[in-house]
Amino acid sequence: MHNKRNRGIALLLTALLALTLTACGGKGSSGSDQEKAKKSGIDYMALVNKLNPLPDGWEDKLETVTMENSVGDDVEVEKKAYKAYQELKKDLEKEKVFVDLDSARRSVADQKRIMDDFTKQYGADYAKKTVAEPGYSEHHTGLALDLYLIIDDEDIVENEDMMQYPEVWEKIHAKLADHGFILRYLKDKEHITGYGYEPWHIRYIDDVKKAKEIMSSGVTLEGWLGDVNETDVDINYGNSELFTKEELEEAAVQIKCDFASWKGCELHSLKYTGDSANTPENLEWANSMYEEPVYTKVARFTGSFHSPKESSGAWDPDKEYRDYQWWLGMDEDGSWEIAGTRY
Ligand SMILES: [Zn+2]
Repeated sequence: MHNKRNRGIALLLTALLALTLTACGGKGSSGSDQEKAKKSGIDYMALVNKLNPLPDGWEDKLETVTMENSVGDDVEVEKKAYKAYQELKKDLEKEKVFVDLDSARRSVADQKRIMDDFTKQYGADYAKKTVAEPGYSEHHTGLALDLYLIIDDEDIVENEDMMQYPEVWEKIHAKLADHGFILRYLKDKEHITGYGYEPWHIRYIDDVKKAKEIMSSGVTLEGWLGDVNETDVDINYGNSELFTKEELEEAAVQIKCDFASWKGCELHSLKYTGDSANTPENLEWANSMYEEPVYTKVARFTGSFHSPKESSGAWDPDKEYRDYQWWLGMDEDGSWEIAGTRY
């Protein structure tokens, strides 16, 4: 979902994306947490995500340190999180696992600047799709850190490259809770977090006991705080001659990431309905939102979800929507985009 560190043009954009991920903040504090929060000023359990903005006044209370990483970039991190990170790093070095910080805190003002630049350069639609909305990235908190790997003295910073080391990430993830960190964007939880799996994005919560509970239960921070009812999604990829299994999985991730912003809704199932949806008429319809055709193929998924108990305008309250349709277009690079929904 967010690319880190593509140097060149993509760098700015991707960096932004990374920053934009934020989850909401600040609930579920017990008495002792509140004590801590008072002392340090911020609520280390705060939830910042696509639906929950950075709590008011956060940036006034935030205390940070800035360090230089192995590739020479400055990285700003919340004070306690940085101390904990250093301990984590030391702990990992004992096992010959070497990491560094790719990016951590991004201010809301920086995010706005990026959004403005992209809007000027590429238009508002593209900017909105590409850049996280200012205020709604967990990176605003200073508590979200993106790691990169150092393997045989080589910096491994590209997402695709980092994904090639699952066994290294496993070792890293096993140590997180000991230092008050959790993994934030879990596999198959895109419909809850709004982000694809990111083994490198860790979050400091300043509570080893809770971190251990969260990490061992495999629940998201959203689910653990009770912000959402965390359900699994039953996905049926059917049969396709047109798309590979990986392509269909990527399409489902797109749908799920988008779904995470459907406030109060619970996704239950998704199903690829088969290659017969890829007709010239449907392709033309999907492309009709663009001046020039962008998609080369279309795919239809149907699914069921439950709407919130209280009516929110968009949905009938407390209703199981069945056979809801998601249409996705694939461009010539093989990237998916949601072209539309129907019911
Ligand atoms: Zn991140």
